[in-house]
Amino acid sequence: MRAARGRDGSRLAVLGGAWLSAYGKGNLIWLSGWDAQVASVGMDQLDRLAADVLGIALRPAQRRALVAITGRGDTLAVLPTGSGKSAIYQVGGLALGGLTVVVSPLIALQRDQLRSMTAHGRVRAVMLNSAQHHAERAAALDELGGGRADFVMLGPEQLANAETMAAIAGGPRPVTLVAVDEAHLVSEWGHDFRPEYLRLADVVEAAGRPPILALTATAAPPVQADITRQLRMRDPQVIVSDFDRPNISLAVRRARHDKPEDQAIDDRTVEVVLAHDGPALVYALSHARCESLARRLRLDAYRAEAYHAGLPAAKRGEIQDAFFAGRLDVVVATSAFGMGIDKPDVRTVVHAGVPGSLDEYYQEIGRAGRDGAPAAAVLVYDPRTVRIPRLLAARSKMGDAAVHAVIDAIEAADGRITVKELAGTSQVGRAAASRVVDELLELGLVRPDGNDAIRAAPMGDAFRQVSAAGSRRQAILRSRIEAARGYAESVHCRRAELLGYFGEHYEPPCKSCDNDDFKPTKRGISDKSGQRVSHRLWGPGTILSRDDHELVIAFDSVGYRHLTAASLTNGLLTVE
Ligand SMILES: [Zn+2]
Repeated sequence: MRAARGRDGSRLAVLGGAWLSAYGKGNLIWLSGWDAQVASVGMDQLDRLAADVLGIALRPAQRRALVAITGRGDTLAVLPTGSGKSAIYQVGGLALGGLTVVVSPLIALQRDQLRSMTAHGRVRAVMLNSAQHHAERAAALDELGGGRADFVMLGPEQLANAETMAAIAGGPRPVTLVAVDEAHLVSEWGHDFRPEYLRLADVVEAAGRPPILALTATAAPPVQADITRQLRMRDPQVIVSDFDRPNISLAVRRARHDKPEDQAIDDRTVEVVLAHDGPALVYALSHARCESLARRLRLDAYRAEAYHAGLPAAKRGEIQDAFFAGRLDVVVATSAFGMGIDKPDVRTVVHAGVPGSLDEYYQEIGRAGRDGAPAAAVLVYDPRTVRIPRLLAARSKMGDAAVHAVIDAIEAADGRITVKELAGTSQVGRAAASRVVDELLELGLVRPDGNDAIRAAPMGDAFRQVSAAGSRRQAILRSRIEAARGYAESVHCRRAELLGYFGEHYEPPCKSCDNDDFKPTKRGISDKSGQRVSHRLWGPGTILSRDDHELVIAFDSVGYRHLTAASLTNGLLTVE
């Protein structure tokens, strides 16, 4: 019955226009059972809803996404943190009028959003996640069962919870929008892949296949392609916007190659800090480099401290507080520093070495110039130094013997088994067993079954699949490092390069990067970026930039590759 109702799009969607007019009179009644034609939701209605319920004026990117979802289209919105992604599903969900399901792994944020959405008593929202008390959960299920909720916010683990799914897909109120926050978690190309997210496509089907709104702040083109594929989005509209931070100038400084690499990077980094305004954040690649750089900067009379995971928590808290209170000029940190903290007047962010990916780099330089005043992002580059991502190191430790042992143990288990039990019977250790199980979940070879348990299935050629997936993941991670290295070595406008990585087109020059400053007559990036191509070996991909000599392409299969322009004429590459 649920599915039949879901397919009957007009019945579900009526409520857009009708609900809005009801809303205009201050009535929040669910107008179920109407059989009228779908009234498309006008932009002025969306504007009014945004102003009345959230007290905001919509930005262009939010409007584009809203037009797409209220037209029942699947939409992927790639927008940076702080650009109002949640407003899109809040306004869109209200406009569509049914139940909006929001999947988000950030429970603390869910709680904040729930509070702000329901603050005026106009919107009814509930949440379901593993962190809540029994009574709170029961009350939420009751609201859903009574058709009284406009929004339900779910933790990803709820996607495997039969009770939750029944309350949503079988509830009296039709699901008219599914919003997926942090959508890059569905892609193994992204960081922190979450196997639970793979269930999303099935959940959407079970809920009657309403439109999907996928949201992320970090998704390069291969990740975008993967998100739309994994969520089985139909003819999705992809909106990439607002990544530019025009007040941050971009530059790369090469370390001297005639010195040992650590010393060369430290020397150049100190030089860069001296030449720029403070307060400054310096990102270094290891604890030891943090310490040595902080020492060097103190010799230059800076109030500088190292910040990394090797310090006691109390010490880390002190350093953070001192920096935010203006009692430190420089903090030299590993990437953990600054997460979720908003110090508005950081003037300079220096990277002492190439980070593991441009996603990371973009996020970290984004901590500069939050106040809108001019700021600088400088990458100190030494081709000898590239960071090996933690994940790559961890995955490569997954030995063949451990994979075999875990697969055998699953086959022998014949039913439900927990990771702890698996570690015991296979004798490979909890962490290793957990890594193998993650991989099997990801490949769909086993299914999750409650907390930390899986449902065993025939393993077939699981071993071969696991090792193939391992190699593929390593290729992906390498390609992410390559993209970061490509940025460091680029002779083009760095802003165009960086934004191009996220798939956002930028017309160079920006006149606020080192390449524009030093080579004003340099050849520009042609408007061919975004063009889909196909490579004889690597299959389909998207041109990110090109000039007379070089092409940068993101391939769906192997990630970023730099090719000579000749590949377009020698038959290796064909334009679609
Ligand atoms: Zn530029």
